[in-house]
Amino acid sequence: MFTAQAATTWLTKFGDAIATNKAYLSDLDTPIGDGDHGNNMARGMTAVQAALATQTDADLTTVFKTVAMALISKVGGASGPLYGTAFLEMAKASKAGTTDLPTLLAAALAGIEKRGGAQAGDKTMLDVWVPVVAAVQADKLDATVIATAVDSTKPMIAKKGRASYLGERAIGHLDPGAVSSGYLFTALLETEA
Ligand code: ADP
Ligand code: MG
Ligand code: MG
Repeated sequence: MFTAQAATTWLTKFGDAIATNKAYLSDLDTPIGDGDHGNNMARGMTAVQAALATQTDADLTTVFKTVAMALISKVGGASGPLYGTAFLEMAKASKAGTTDLPTLLAAALAGIEKRGGAQAGDKTMLDVWVPVVAAVQADKLDATVIATAVDSTKPMIAKKGRASYLGERAIGHLDPGAVSSGYLFTALLETEA
C-alpha cells in the first residue's frame, strides 16, 4: 500500500534532487533544447514542496492532485503538462480505490503516452518511464535499471520535443526529461527503502 505520507516523502525528495541539479538539467537542455528544463522543474517543484508543506492530513488523492496542479501551473514547457498529467492520472487511479504503486505508475505512464504521443525510443522521459514502470511491476526496480534507462537516451535521435528538430545532432546527448525522471524514480527508491 502506497500511503499519502510515502507520496509526500517521495515528492519532497524529488524536489530536493531537482533543486540540487537545476543548473545541470538546464545545461543538458542547452545543446538539444532551449536550456530551461532545470529552471522549469525547479519552479514547479518549489511550488509542490510549498503546497505539500501546508497539507498535513491530506489523503493520497489530494497529495497527487496538489502535485499535478502545481506542476501544470508552474512548470510550463513541454514537461509541465506531461509530469502534471502523470500525477493527475495517479490522483484519478487512487480516487478509484487503488493504493497499489505499480498500478498507480502504470496509470501515470499511460497518461504521459496519451498526452505526448511519444513512445520508447523517441528520446524523451518515456525512455525512463517505460522500463522503470515495467521494473516496478516485476518488483525489480533498482539504481541500475534507472541509470541504464537514462543512459539509453544518449545515442538516440529524438522524434518528439525540441530535440527532434536537430536530427542526428541530438546523438551523444542525454535527454533532460529522462534525467529528471531518473531523479523522480531514484527518490522513489529512497522512499521505499
Ligand atoms: P520545453 O522543451 O518546452 O522547453 P522542457 O525543457 O521543460 O520543455 O522539457 C523538455 C523535455 O520534455 C524533454 O527532454 C523530453 O524528455 C520531454 N518531452 C518533450 N516532448 C515530449 C513528448 N511528446 N512526450 C514525452 N516527453 C516529452
Ligand atoms: Mg526546454
Ligand atoms: Mg522551454
